Formats: sequence, structure tokens, C-alpha cells
Amino acid sequence: MKPGMMLLWPWRRLLRWWAGVVLVLVLTAPPIFGYGADPLTPQGIRQEFALLSARLRQTPNDVTVLNSLGILYARAGQLNDAILLWNRALTINPRYIHLYNNLGSALKAQGRVEEAVRVYQAGLAITPSFWIYYNLGLLEKDRGRYREAAHYFRECLRQNPRFEAAAQRLEDLGYVLASQQAAQGIPYKPPTDLEALSLTMLERMEGEEGGGEGAEPRPAGAPSDTRRPWRAAGGADLPVTMTVETCAAYLEKMAQGAPTRLVALTFDDGPHPSITPRLLDLLQAHGAKGTFFVLGSRAESYPELLERMVREGHEVGNHSWSHKSLVRLGPATARADLQRAAATIEACTNQPCRLVRPPYGHTNAEIRAMIHRSGWAHIMWDADSRDWQLSDANQMLARTLRKTSPGAVLLFHDIHPGVLRVLPVLLPALRQCGYRFVTVSELLRLQGSRS
Ligand SMILES: [Zn+2]
Repeated sequence: MKPGMMLLWPWRRLLRWWAGVVLVLVLTAPPIFGYGADPLTPQGIRQEFALLSARLRQTPNDVTVLNSLGILYARAGQLNDAILLWNRALTINPRYIHLYNNLGSALKAQGRVEEAVRVYQAGLAITPSFWIYYNLGLLEKDRGRYREAAHYFRECLRQNPRFEAAAQRLEDLGYVLASQQAAQGIPYKPPTDLEALSLTMLERMEGEEGGGEGAEPRPAGAPSDTRRPWRAAGGADLPVTMTVETCAAYLEKMAQGAPTRLVALTFDDGPHPSITPRLLDLLQAHGAKGTFFVLGSRAESYPELLERMVREGHEVGNHSWSHKSLVRLGPATARADLQRAAATIEACTNQPCRLVRPPYGHTNAEIRAMIHRSGWAHIMWDADSRDWQLSDANQMLARTLRKTSPGAVLLFHDIHPGVLRVLPVLLPALRQCGYRFVTVSELLRLQGSRS
């Protein structure tokens, strides 16, 4: 875009966006005052919250205070409240750049990726912030768009050549900087060794903890290899390049010689009219059993798929009726929502439905207690494929493998097609490594309670 265009283009869109924000705020009335944090929120956050709330009462339009309060909400896990606050602050001072960065990151954390991109770009239209470029780079990398990610990391370095995290990310993507100055100019080298990609990706991920934002330090003792190969461009249709043998060797390492090897495959958010039947075919072809945490509302639409699940030896669990956060609903409403779903599921399967998986994994002590009181089991997971977020099946596979050891519960979603590309490699690899596929209830029985 030409510099002159910068003055014209974003403003109209931004104005429209602000109008939307104001409307949303009027309709939802942000809960700033007298809104206690979750009881599990650490004491330090609550004290800081009280201080900032007091300051806000004196100066309700102080954008820095609103921004800090939003950060506290986000740290306490109340992303919706953080988003409301930052939106409100933007209506007061739309040039306060940190708001765009924080808002974008919160939206991204909620899986609202396209909205996050729009917010980041609105921020960049105001100030070319290196932080925003960096976060956009992370976002694109996470969804497998490595070429775009590299572009943003380079823009980040153009703004701040000493920002090492961006240089490291660029290097991870296989771009070799000719020198520090190179960041400000053109010279960079695209990746070459795509063959070695898959194994390198796994090795690299071993050093990561949790993934997502934040600095990812180089694993201790790892050489400073600036020629690390990486995929240059990603996309939804890229084939899985990791072989069954590679995966099985990795799983063997993770199993550390354990004699009993059980794994529970779980699939959330379905059933889906086209993906779930193909998934069931795939599981049947590999002789694998799984557990489907279905939504009551979707079960009602596709009862025949639940019947098929049970007929073919799979287990059906409860993933709520509406897929709202149980924590936000509160124990009483959450229980009613879960009971409605359980009744529908049980009507389809003709079996009791004992397992509950909270949507988004949002849970707390109260919800856990309510689930146990209701005679259900509270089920989370060990390995998250992130198939709802990533587009590159290699990454989904790598994420899953690095958390898979005997007794693990694996998480997929049968409303996204990624699972259909991952399982044809993962299932034979698990079997080759001596794993037996069990339902979650079988796993609980065989391992003792872990809910
Ligand atoms: Zn879900």
C-alpha cells in the first residue's frame, strides 16, 4: 500500500468498527465495578484489582488504568471481561496502541483468529508497533501460514532490529539473516531442506512448554544452528510428511519402556454430518475405539451417528448442550445445561452417559464438585492436537505426539477435517508402538480414577 493510502483507507473501516464496539458496549454493559474476580484468582491479582478499581472510580476515563485492569482480567482467565474493557478503552482513546495488541491477543486466545487479525491491523494503521507485527507473525505461524508469518517477523525487526525473539522466530522458519542489518533490508534466504522438516519440528517442539505466546527459549544445550530447516509455506491441504516409522520411533522414546500401553482417543464438538462418518470409517479400518464428547444440540440433529458410535464400540460423553463455558454459567445453570445434553445423549445411545468434558476445558473447583455431585466423571485431556486452530496436519501430529505416553488422553475435534489427515499416520504408529486403544471409561477402570 502506498503511504498516501494509509491516511484514507483504515479510517472508514475503523469508524465502522468503533460504532460496532459502542453498540456492543451499550447492549452488554461492561462489568467493571463491584465485579469480583473468580474465587480461585490469586490474592495478588485481587489486591491489584481492588487498587485499580479504586483508581478507576476517581478517573473513569483513564485509558492506562482500563488497560491494566484488562490485563488483570486476562491473567485471571476472564478474557471476555478483558475484551470488554479494552474495547471500552478504545472508544475513549483509539490511539492507545497497547489496547490493539492486548485485544488482538485475547481474541486469538479465544480462537477468534480473524477478529484478532482485524484488530492487530487496525492498530498497525495507527502505529507500526513491533509488538503487533510480532504477534501477527505468531498468529500466522500458528495457523500454518509461514510465509506471512515470516513477513511480519521481518516487519517487526524493521521496526526494532534488536528484538531478538522475532529474529529467533524468523530463524525457526528457516530464514537465515545475512547479518543484523539484514533485517532492515531485503537479504534473507528461504528454507531449502524441506525433507528434514518433520523430525526437526518434533525435536524443536520437545524444547517448548505449552506452546502459544511468549518467549520460547532454545532448548538447553541446543546448538545455535542458523540453518534450521522449516516449511516455507503452509496450508490446509499439505500432506502429512511424517512417516509412521518416524512417529512410532518418537512414541517409543516417550513410552520409556513401559510394558502396558493404553491410549484414549477423544473427539469433541460433534457429531458432524460429513466428518464424523468418515472418522468412524477410519477408526473401524484401524480397529480403534474412541470416545466422542458430543454436544447435546448436535446429538439431537444427528441421532443416527450416536447410534452408530455405540454400535461400533465407541463411548459417547457429554460436552454440554450449548458449548458455553461452564465456569461462566455457574454451577446451577451449568448443571441444567449438562443434564439437558445427557438426557438427549442417553435417549440416542440407550446407555447412561457418565463422562463430562467442560467446553474449552474451562473449569474450576466449583464446577468439578458439581460434576462429581451429579454422579458424572470430569474428563480433561493430556495431548491437545490443536486441530481446531492449526491448518498444517504435520503440526497437529507433532503437538499430539509430544504429549503422548502410556495412559494419555488425546484430544481431537470431529468438526474439523484435520483429524482425518492425522489419524491415518497416528493410529498405525501407536499400534506399531504397542498401544491399545481404549475408551475413556475403560482407561479409568484400568488405571484407577483420574478425574
Ligand atoms: Zn468443545
